[in-house]
Amino acid sequence: MLIPPINSGYSYKRKISLKALLTLTLALSIHSVFAQTQRCQQQDVTLQVLGSGGPELSDGRASASYLIWHHNKPRVLIDAGPGSSVNFGASGANFADLQAVLLTHLHVDHSADLPAYVKGSYFTQRTNDLTIYGPSGNALMPDTSAYLASLLGNKGAFAYLSDYTDTSSQAAYHIKAHNIPLTPIKQHSQKVSDDITITASPVHHGPVAALAWRVDIDNCSITFSGDMSNKNDTLAALAKDSDILVMHNAVPQGATGAAINLHMRPLDIGKIANQASAKTVVLSHFMNRTKNNNEMTLGYIRQNFAGEVKMATDMATF
Ligand SMILES: [Zn+2]
Repeated sequence: MLIPPINSGYSYKRKISLKALLTLTLALSIHSVFAQTQRCQQQDVTLQVLGSGGPELSDGRASASYLIWHHNKPRVLIDAGPGSSVNFGASGANFADLQAVLLTHLHVDHSADLPAYVKGSYFTQRTNDLTIYGPSGNALMPDTSAYLASLLGNKGAFAYLSDYTDTSSQAAYHIKAHNIPLTPIKQHSQKVSDDITITASPVHHGPVAALAWRVDIDNCSITFSGDMSNKNDTLAALAKDSDILVMHNAVPQGATGAAINLHMRPLDIGKIANQASAKTVVLSHFMNRTKNNNEMTLGYIRQNFAGEVKMATDMATF
């Protein structure tokens, strides 16, 4: 039979209080890590991938598109690649709630569903004007406003929808385009609502006019690389301390030539993520040359970045 020591009551209590203190300390430190890394969750902000593929017909994915939800409402759409409008509907999002559309560039795999969203919006209750923010043009690509006019203007391919772009018309709402300058290379920020600030930075995507976008919503920040090589070296600064950094994994490390003039390699992805101190990296825009290479891709990223890396799939939420 065990005889408790005379002072056992005291030491037991003391042990309990030490244990409680340790538990509390641990809980507090977990909480501070949680608070740091889960700010988006605390602000009820969710990133949903509407399209995680590139331009290939055989990749089994919708092309590039992302939706930022806040308090269960879709607030910002980033890119509008083919197939994304179907996934937008499947997500349960109401187009009437969107406050901005941000385009990284006007390649087909990032922008071609735009008319589908606009036509579909006829069947929603939208009454607020909508601005589409995208790059100014260059030698190869049109201004975002010219792109919009070529589709939905009164001389556009879908002139039957031109009431949406004609601000003197009686359409339920109007669509405007806002061209972001590409030169000089600097960040452009603006508020689109009390709690949303968008910031664009010109990026190098071969000969294509292209932007990366950062969205700060409440206390949560999400940055989108779009398609880019890192020749402008602007993404790390734009993405500084982002909670989520979406980066496009369109080429494998061994890529050469035109592919690396257009896209960043996995080593670049890791370096940029590390410079940005990104909390979570979401890899997306997979192509057949990268989509079955996740382990090798991660190996290269890990050489420079120790944080969380997740793989996008269509409809996934982060
Ligand atoms: Zn692309």
